[in-house]
Amino acid sequence: MVSDCLFCKIIAGEIPATIRYEDSQLVVFEDIDPQAPEHLLIVPKKHIMTTLDLTSADNELVGHIYQIAGKMARDFGFAEDGFRVVNNCNDAGGQMVWHLHFHLLGGRDMTWPPG
Ligand code: AMP
Ligand code: ZN
Repeated sequence: MVSDCLFCKIIAGEIPATIRYEDSQLVVFEDIDPQAPEHLLIVPKKHIMTTLDLTSADNELVGHIYQIAGKMARDFGFAEDGFRVVNNCNDAGGQMVWHLHFHLLGGRDMTWPPG
């Protein structure tokens, strides 16, 4: 728990969020500014700042995150239509919250290239 980290505070229950799934390793909650009909954030409970801070010790965690992304898409009914998993890293990548997270977007057609 990092005391000045927004997502650590959500994980600790100190800031409210609409939690859609939780297990020992991660929490999934709704993005406060949704960019699609379904916009979930998949957030490891461990405070890792960015993708660049991942180590081999986190390999199982990242695999689990992707497995849960698929589970969420199936459970909430947008797997068949299709969806997108996005990780923004550092300033040019559009990262705003410095606690690793993966956006799971679904419920509409996505465009390419992304903005
Ligand atoms: P990123 O730009 O990849 O760091 O994504 C951060 C995301 O966190 C943005 O999509 C924000 O809308 C979202 N966000 C910021 N504050 C909250 C909050 N209190 N609850 C849920 N999502 C949030
Ligand atoms: Zn954190």
